[in-house]
Amino acid sequence: MDSFTQLLDAVKAYCRSKVNETAYNLWLRDIEPVSFSGDSAVVAVSSEFMRQIVEARYLSLLREGFEETVGYEVEVKVVSRDAVPAEAPRAEPAPRAASNPESLYTFENFIIGPDNRYAAAAAQTVAENPANVYNPLFIYGASGLGKTHLLFAIKNQLSKTRPELKVLYISTETLTNELVTAIRLGTTESMRQKYRNVDVLLVDDVQFLSGKEQTQEEFFHTFNALHEAHRQVVLTSDRPPKDIKSLEERLRTRFEWGLMTDVQPPDIETRISIIQSKSLDMGFSLSPEVAEFIAKQLKSDVRQLEGVVKKLYAFRLMDGTEPTIEMAQSAIADIVNETVPWPATVEKIISEVGRTFNVSPDDMKGKSQKADVSQARQIAMYIIREVTGNTMGKIGEEFGKRDHATVVYGISKIESTVQSDPRIRAIVQDIIKNCQR
Ligand code: ADP
Ligand code: MG
Repeated sequence: MDSFTQLLDAVKAYCRSKVNETAYNLWLRDIEPVSFSGDSAVVAVSSEFMRQIVEARYLSLLREGFEETVGYEVEVKVVSRDAVPAEAPRAEPAPRAASNPESLYTFENFIIGPDNRYAAAAAQTVAENPANVYNPLFIYGASGLGKTHLLFAIKNQLSKTRPELKVLYISTETLTNELVTAIRLGTTESMRQKYRNVDVLLVDDVQFLSGKEQTQEEFFHTFNALHEAHRQVVLTSDRPPKDIKSLEERLRTRFEWGLMTDVQPPDIETRISIIQSKSLDMGFSLSPEVAEFIAKQLKSDVRQLEGVVKKLYAFRLMDGTEPTIEMAQSAIADIVNETVPWPATVEKIISEVGRTFNVSPDDMKGKSQKADVSQARQIAMYIIREVTGNTMGKIGEEFGKRDHATVVYGISKIESTVQSDPRIRAIVQDIIKNCQR
């Protein structure tokens, strides 16, 4: 498999988490890699009809996916398969299995350490023997520690060993949305049938049931129906049942009926193994020094470890150099800035820009289109982007929910001004320096 195929798989995994399953399968799953040049990507869909829809409805999501995956903006072009000349150099199409990113979450690539051993063993037991041992199995722990990975590992293993079983994965968010739609369309009965007919139901992030009375009510009956019929239920949550607020008592007790097991942040050896394994999965290897360096810096969230590996992968893809400690350091800085909300910095930048241009922060965040205000606003957006690495979407939110296109436009305008006008460049650098104090 070539590296752009893997990169595109990661982008699809991101998109997959943002749209419902039907939309994903219909429009995004079969997108194929054509070419990637570092800052621009060409992908193909099967027909001109598909192309128009994907371009109109999913282009910004794809861009966002690339940005999340490689850590910088990538120009994305969608072409129709009919229009790609047969002799044009193009990447091998991804094998079927890999074009579904969740198939990549398996027990084989789940690294076991003292902090997740029991949860992994319980998940494995359930996969080998559904509905016979722990029912429900309730896995809890902080974000990024492998709960979703374990659910898909169960699903993937069962699809190999027990293909006759119906296994359904659903996030609590999707479940809630589906229910709202079903109530509106009067199709709750068929929704009930769908859930009550499965052999194994995997429900992710049940902490989001908190306060959702109608979903709790439905889920209570589904749970009972499945349990009585000796079907397996596996649940995950970021906290144990007793700590989920506004959860009906009768659901809470049911969640506690079977086995509860937690995942904790991995120790240093496990972190090193995870880093090595993720990089090998992406088709490259990291020196022990680099892996250890990363493992020592990032202690609590496997998703962050994975983020650093992806950035190093992207660096390597761009300039062909093997990852160094210095590169790892800069990748870590990006990740930490992106994932640790640091509103003080954004506020600081806005106020510093305001002071320099004599425009109030409120005006910058408001609707005014006066030339001086919008110029200050664009400068602030540009600096926030430079300093925090926030996504365009997040930056837009800071400025009165401006849309993605407006932010992209504003930032690219300042980008070229900064390049052509040394005076503006000096002002921008000054502001950045002042914000860091
Ligand atoms: P959670 O659902 O607990 O928030 P995820 O299952 O989404 O976390 O995990 C985040 C990322 O970290 C995923 O890409 C997953 O593959 C990876 N990950 C977490 N724990 C492990 C592990 N022990 N071994 C390998 N990968 C892991
Ligand atoms: Mg999860």
